[in-house]
Amino acid sequence: MFRILRMPSDSIWQDPELSKRLARYRAICKGEKTARYLIAKKTPVKNPVNSENDIEDLWNNHDETREVFNIILNNIDKGKTTLTELKTPTTNFLDLKTKIADKIIENCHFCERRCYVNRKVGEKGVCKVGVNSIVSSAFLHVGEEPPLVPSGTIFFASCVFKCVFCQNYDISQNLQGDEVEYTYLVDLQRKLISEGAININWVGGDPIPNVHNILHSLRELDKNIVQLWNSNMYLSQESMSLLVDIMDFWLPDLKFRENSFAKRMSGIENYWEVVTRNIKYAYTVGSREIIIRHLCMPNRIEIDTFPILDWVNHEVPLSFVNIMAQYRPEYRAHRSEYQDINRRVSSAEMQLARDYADKKGIAWRQV
Ligand code: SF4
Repeated sequence: MFRILRMPSDSIWQDPELSKRLARYRAICKGEKTARYLIAKKTPVKNPVNSENDIEDLWNNHDETREVFNIILNNIDKGKTTLTELKTPTTNFLDLKTKIADKIIENCHFCERRCYVNRKVGEKGVCKVGVNSIVSSAFLHVGEEPPLVPSGTIFFASCVFKCVFCQNYDISQNLQGDEVEYTYLVDLQRKLISEGAININWVGGDPIPNVHNILHSLRELDKNIVQLWNSNMYLSQESMSLLVDIMDFWLPDLKFRENSFAKRMSGIENYWEVVTRNIKYAYTVGSREIIIRHLCMPNRIEIDTFPILDWVNHEVPLSFVNIMAQYRPEYRAHRSEYQDINRRVSSAEMQLARDYADKKGIAWRQV
């Protein structure tokens, strides 16, 4: 991800928009509210789960259980009950989600590439990730947006995008890292929390191929810590449905408006429809605590940045937008066919983007 190094500061919360829009997030950080995944673990499944269930049964059960989850979440948030007062169910909402994820990976559609390969028997799709995850690094990150630091970042290798300008191609395309089981993710989270992380930041490359291992790891964790999804957001609807209840915070990229440009840059189809669908779902069904990262690119301010800011303004208006100037031509962006992106973004272009955001009333200065 493209970040400038910054240090955390409590004074940022004096900003009224920040403290209002990210109130629940901040309350979890302070131990005053409960992380969603812990509530999912106290939510009993609506119908018994057994080995006869096919994936359709599990999804029906999931969607009915979500209603129970939302009631419990509401009751806990309003102080009508506490986590400790609730019984521990035999099978909980997170168990059910994990079971579904274990089925999805046999016919993989964690992302909208929809490779439909069986990763459990060694087949690999576009991301080239098997059942185990590949972790390239994990550390306390102080370069994320001010409200998020110090952030317990876990960087997975591999990405479902093939961006020609990728700054992290050693991780995203060359898959540098260690192959690990989900138990290692549990240990990493505990370590990052003990070091002072205020959230667990699932990132990469991209975390999408690892949904199953993340869910398994959360079944074993019991710390009240924000779960944060930091991604290109090219998830399938099914993955979104698994994550939307348990992620407390969303940090999605929104790069391109034009699908043809997205295809040329990142090798993916239907970029706009998929990514905006998922961000809107996180906004309407999920926590609504979102910072959208928009990477400004050379020669693209009017074509991508303006319509993206318009969309945010209309569709997800309480989201913050990080208008990023960090683009630099890397990896394949120096090749002759990419001359249009073979330079940094000018300060005049950045000014144009920020002026437009101000005109539209977008909250960007806080992040
Ligand atoms: S995560 Fe996406 S790219 Fe990887 S195998 Fe599954 S569907 Fe394919």
